[in-house]
Amino acid sequence: MHLPDHKTKIVATIGPASDAPEMLRKLIRAGMNIARLNFSHGDPDYHEEIIARIREAARETQQRVAIMGDLPGPKMRIGDLAEEPIELQRGDELTLTTEDILGDRHRVSISFPDLANAVQPGDRLYLNDGFILLRVLEVAGSEIRCSVGVGGELSSRKGLNLPGIDLGISAFTPDDHDWLRFAARHQLDAVSQSFVAIEDDILAVRQAATEMDYAPFIIAKIERADALDNLAAILSAADGIMVARGDLGVEIAIERIAVVQKQITEMANHFGKPVITATQMLESMVNYRRPTRAESTDVANAILGGTDCVMLSAESAVGRYPAESVAMLASIATHVEPERSKQLFTPTMDGFGGSDPARAVDLIAASVYHTINNSEPSFVVVPTQSGNTPRNIVRFRPPVWIIAFSPNATTCQSLQFSYGIHTIEVDADRSDWSGFVRQWLRERGVDSGLVLLTQGPTADNPCGNYRMEILELALGPGMRCP
Ligand code: ATP
Ligand code: MG
Ligand code: MG
Repeated sequence: MHLPDHKTKIVATIGPASDAPEMLRKLIRAGMNIARLNFSHGDPDYHEEIIARIREAARETQQRVAIMGDLPGPKMRIGDLAEEPIELQRGDELTLTTEDILGDRHRVSISFPDLANAVQPGDRLYLNDGFILLRVLEVAGSEIRCSVGVGGELSSRKGLNLPGIDLGISAFTPDDHDWLRFAARHQLDAVSQSFVAIEDDILAVRQAATEMDYAPFIIAKIERADALDNLAAILSAADGIMVARGDLGVEIAIERIAVVQKQITEMANHFGKPVITATQMLESMVNYRRPTRAESTDVANAILGGTDCVMLSAESAVGRYPAESVAMLASIATHVEPERSKQLFTPTMDGFGGSDPARAVDLIAASVYHTINNSEPSFVVVPTQSGNTPRNIVRFRPPVWIIAFSPNATTCQSLQFSYGIHTIEVDADRSDWSGFVRQWLRERGVDSGLVLLTQGPTADNPCGNYRMEILELALGPGMRCP
C-alpha cells in the first residue's frame, strides 16, 4: 500500500509565485497537504480563482488537499507603494498617514484610522515582522512623523506592530466577518484567526460561522503576548493552533520564541489538537535553492518537539523556489520522524487537555499507544465520525500510520492537520469494520502482519463502547486465534 513518506503535514501559502496550475500540481506532488490563502493579500476575485485551481490540481493529482483561509484580524498594514521595494536607512524620516495615498520613501499610508490617537512621541513601531524599527517623533493630526531606528527593505502591505500598546480591538473584525462569509461560500476546510487574545475571539468566529451554516476547522494563531496567558482556554475553544512566529517575534522578545514555541506545542499535544509551526522555516529559500543549516535544524526541531504541521509563508507565496521548499520540508520530515518516534512520550491517564478525570477517548488513545508499543502492528485503523479518536491517538506520536476511515467528508479534510494520520473517505459507517478493513487492505496488497483496529461509538450507536481488536491478517477472515 502506498503511504506518504512523511507523517508531518505541510502547509504552503499560495501567492503569485505558486498560483499557476502547473506549480500547484508540483507543490501537491512534493507533499503539500494544506494550501493556505492569506486574505491580507489579494482580493476575493483572486482567491476565488486560486481556490478553483487548487481543487482542480488536487483532483488531477488525486491527492487530498485542504484549503485554509487566513483571517487577517486587526493587523495594521501599510498601504500600497508607488514603487517597491523601498530601502529605509537609519536616520531617515518616514511619515505614516491615515490618508489613502500611494506610498513612497517619505510617506506611506496606514490602514488604521485611530493610530494617531494611540501613539505618542517616543513610542517604538515595527514594520515587516519587526525588521524595521521606527521611533515616533511627532503626531500631528492624521500624520505620524517617525525616524528610522533600524532600516531595511519595505514593500506594499507589510504589517505594523506596536508591542505593548493595546488598541482595544478584538481579533475577529468586521473585515474578517466578510472573509469568513467568503470562506463559507467556497466551503473552505479551515480558517485561521490572526491575533487571538482570548477564547472569546475563537467563539466569535465559530458563532458567526454557525450562523452561516458553516463548520470550518478553526485554527487560533498565537502571536500576541496576552494569548500566552490564556492558552488552555484558547485551545479548548479552537480546533487547532498556530505558532505564528512572525508577529509573535515582535509582540514578545525574539529571544523567548523558542521556549514559547515549545510550551505551545506541548500544550496542544496535551489537548489532542493539531499545532502548526509557522514563519521563516526556510526563509533563505525565498532566494536560494538550499536552506541554511540553521533553518533545516529549526524544521527538524519543530518536528522532534511535537509539531503536527510545518508551514511555508513567503517561501511558497513569493519565493523563487516554492516546489523545492515543499520538497525540502518533506525530506527533512522523512529523515527526522523515525527519531521522533523513539522519543518515548509516556501517556498518563489523567488530566489530558485539562479534563479530569480522563475522557473515554483519552483512555482509548493511551491504550492504543501502549498496544502499539507491545504488538508492533503494521497499521492502526480507526473508523471515526468526528476525527476525535485518531487525533487523540497521534498526540503520542506512534511510530506507525493511523489510517482513519470516515464517512464524513469534513472530518477527512480536517484530519489533514494531524501528524501521522492518513485519511480514507468511505461511503457509510458500518457495523462490520474488521471484515471491511481486511478486505480493503487485501485489495492493496497487505495480506500479512498485525493491524490494530479501534472503534468508538458510531452514528448508529452513539452510546456504544470503545473496542480495540487485533487483526491477524495472515489468518484470513473467519479464522480465529486460539
Ligand atoms: P501573517 O501575519 O498572516 O503571516 P504576512 O504579511 O506575514 O501575514 P505571509 O502569509 O506570512 O504574510 O506571507 C509572507 C509574505 O508573502 C507577505 O508579507 C507578502 O509579501 C507575500 N504574500 C503572501 N501571500 C500573498 C499573495 N496572495 N499575494 C501577494 N503577496 C503575498
Ligand atoms: Mg507571516
Ligand atoms: Mg501574523
